[in-house]
Amino acid sequence: MAGIAFPTPDPRILARKSAIVAQLRALVADPEAVIDDPVELAPYETDAFTAYRRPPLAVVLPSSTAEVARVLAFLAREGVKVVPRGAGTSLSGGAIPLEDSVVVGVARMNRVLAIDPANRTARVQAGITNLAITEAVAEHGFFYAPDPSSQLACTLAGNIAMNSGGAHCLKYGVTTNNLLGVTLVLVDGTVVELGGEAFDPPGYDLVGLVCGSEGQLGIVTEAVVRILPRPEGARPVLLAFASSEAAGACVADIIGAGIVPVAIEFMDNPAIRICEAFSGAGYPTEAAALLIVEVEGSDAEIDAELARIVAIARRHGVTTIRESRSATETAQIWKGRKSAFGATGRVADYICMDGTIPTSRLPEVLRRIDEIVKGYGLRVANVFHAGDGNLHPLVLYDVNDPEQAAKAEAAGADILKLCVEVGGCLTGEHGVGIEKRDLMHHQFTRAELLQQAAVRRVFDPDEILNPGKVFPLDLRCAA
Ligand SMILES: Cc1cc2nc3c(=O)[nH]c(=O)nc-3n(C[C@H](O)[C@H](O)[C@H](O)COP(=O)(O)OP(=O)(O)OC[C@H]3O[C@@H](n4cnc5c(N)ncnc54)[C@H](O)[C@@H]3O)c2cc1C
Repeated sequence: MAGIAFPTPDPRILARKSAIVAQLRALVADPEAVIDDPVELAPYETDAFTAYRRPPLAVVLPSSTAEVARVLAFLAREGVKVVPRGAGTSLSGGAIPLEDSVVVGVARMNRVLAIDPANRTARVQAGITNLAITEAVAEHGFFYAPDPSSQLACTLAGNIAMNSGGAHCLKYGVTTNNLLGVTLVLVDGTVVELGGEAFDPPGYDLVGLVCGSEGQLGIVTEAVVRILPRPEGARPVLLAFASSEAAGACVADIIGAGIVPVAIEFMDNPAIRICEAFSGAGYPTEAAALLIVEVEGSDAEIDAELARIVAIARRHGVTTIRESRSATETAQIWKGRKSAFGATGRVADYICMDGTIPTSRLPEVLRRIDEIVKGYGLRVANVFHAGDGNLHPLVLYDVNDPEQAAKAEAAGADILKLCVEVGGCLTGEHGVGIEKRDLMHHQFTRAELLQQAAVRRVFDPDEILNPGKVFPLDLRCAA
């Protein structure tokens, strides 16, 4: 792919690489925390949006907030750009470095600092993986609700920067709804505590501002998250339909009936086939669309909710109903869905789009996505969080064919414009990064974008932190 422009590297910074690296080594306790060898830099050249890559000047992996502060103060003083990084699983190119930038990764800062079951909070270092939070609080009967499919690898830092969601966010909200406080290192090395253990602190909601700011307001080193008591039980039902329209209308009616499942996941026929071939989850491969709807509570509550959901599905001509009766059956139903991205990667290269739409527009949008992608001579598999209208069309193409790659990018852009046109937005959970940066004009007016850019410059007047992301490049020049 070649459609996305990067800012031109500053030759003066490139020329000073050795001196910058030497200074960085002096600022951290472990000299091996600074990486400048080209081979060792390779894993940091890109993230999970693998279409683009740039080798950074160097990588630093600090072990404490104090080290992050020293490193940031030094780099800002020297005018060196900084790209914060967690695990590098961003699907929008949020963590892709620039050649004249230093990557500051928080992966070594991965400890649980305190668990407070009585007040339902946990304080953790930001480099902890998402899943490790739930594992740490499980012995107290709690869990951390946001559950991106990448939760085994992705860090809380990345989740905060992207305001990440997951299959179970329909009921519990996304990261911003489960985040109470952050320790933020500002670009000049100042450390500030925003929010904290208490609910709804006075003053501006700066925690809300930092959540979703894509590494442009500071580096998050610690966080206080809300933890929730594990529900008594949870069970999914798998529902298959003869048309995407019927499945889409069923989703709209479940939501419209005031039922709040923990998850409603949707797969179209290409996705069903791909996932079934990979996982053997027992999905009906002839179905046009499949829903996995999960509810939780006591056995009696689950039975009652599932009965209402199945009754709605029957009104929409459901062709298969598979209700889980055991943990094994639950795992089997989820197996295919959870492996969707990996399974798709086995049959083709793909770009994973991430837009939202009002759920009532699902059937129409699915039809138009199909038309858009077919218009470019490509194929699409749809798998997404249908309950909150968060679409993930996977546009399939051959990465070694530049013409197909350009078409995939164009089809993806058309899909996201469609999401905005029907009243949705450009990103549900993956963030803007570089992928959607140039589409921001379709979502916001120039005045609205300039207002957001002005907020960024309050924190980072010289645009040192994660430049070239989120805001269209021409806006930056003009501003
Ligand atoms: C297979 C797969 C499935 C996925 N499924 C989901 C899903 O279900 N839901 C979802 O929301 N996302 C999903 N993602 C996308 C991705 O996992 C999330 O965006 C995740 O939050 C990124 O975390 P990370 O630690 O990898 O961050 P990175 O990719 O390293 O960085 C992401 C962004 O965070 C910034 N950042 C990183 N650390 C800091 C810090 N300490 N301070 C400030 N900014 C920082 C970076 O600069 C960048 O802009 C998926 C990705 C993959 C590969």
